[in-house]
Amino acid sequence: MKTVVLVTGASKGIGAANVDRWIRDGAFVIALSRIKKTLELSVKKYPKGKVFPIVCDVSSPASVEESCRIIKTKFKRVDVIINNAGTGYFEPIEKTSLEHWQTTINTILTGTFLMTKAMLPLLKKSKKAHIFNICSTASKKGFINCGSYAAAKFGQLGFTEVLREELRPMRIKVTAIIPGAVNTPFWEKQASGFDLSKMLHAGNVADAIAYAYTQSNNNLVEEIVLKPACGDL
Ligand code: NAP
Repeated sequence: MKTVVLVTGASKGIGAANVDRWIRDGAFVIALSRIKKTLELSVKKYPKGKVFPIVCDVSSPASVEESCRIIKTKFKRVDVIINNAGTGYFEPIEKTSLEHWQTTINTILTGTFLMTKAMLPLLKKSKKAHIFNICSTASKKGFINCGSYAAAKFGQLGFTEVLREELRPMRIKVTAIIPGAVNTPFWEKQASGFDLSKMLHAGNVADAIAYAYTQSNNNLVEEIVLKPACGDL
């Protein structure tokens, strides 16, 4: 029986690397992303029967609800969800607009909540259910110019820790993935000055998730922190 994996923010970066990795490992992937054209382009390379793309804005309750309605008509269970969709604006708090603040919180924090809650009935039908939330080193440490991003990522990690305890009795595993800087399109819109060549690769994050999922039932990998070998950039 194929593992059924749902990935949000599947069209680029860490999400796309996960789609790739799970398909290579023989899973069936439900790939969700906001922009239709980008999503279609990203899944085009896979043969039919490997991936099911759905346009979904995780920050919108109506969009998440509609996606879940479609998923429930096609799938009896989902084994893995990877809450990965995210965005961020690197700017001082003094210059952060309410719009940037809300977009960041709604995508990362509310999106993780909405998708998790909507998919729980299908996860409960799996014999090996696992939720991965892609948090960040900015979930644990305040970096300058990361006000809205840190608020969303600290919140997402707190949510993840509560979720883990609530789902433990149901044998649904919950893992926080906590990467440092990863070389993805995320950095294209940031004037960070970071050296992208020193960053982690998106595939490193996919490898960490595959590692945690393949542990035996008695072993729950609660969190994985990944950093570029050179340290913080
Ligand atoms: P990315 O390359 O910018 O990709 C982001 C993905 O999220 C895209 O597929 C994008 O799709 C999707 N997305 C954005 N807003 C969305 C929404 N409202 N609804 C649905 N999909 C949405 O970013 P990334 O670097 O791979 O980041 C993925 C996750 O890892 C994020 O949660 C990020 O915070 C976290 N992370 C990244 C780094 C890093 O250094 N890159 C480090 C630690 C943690 P569209 O283009 O269609 O909007």
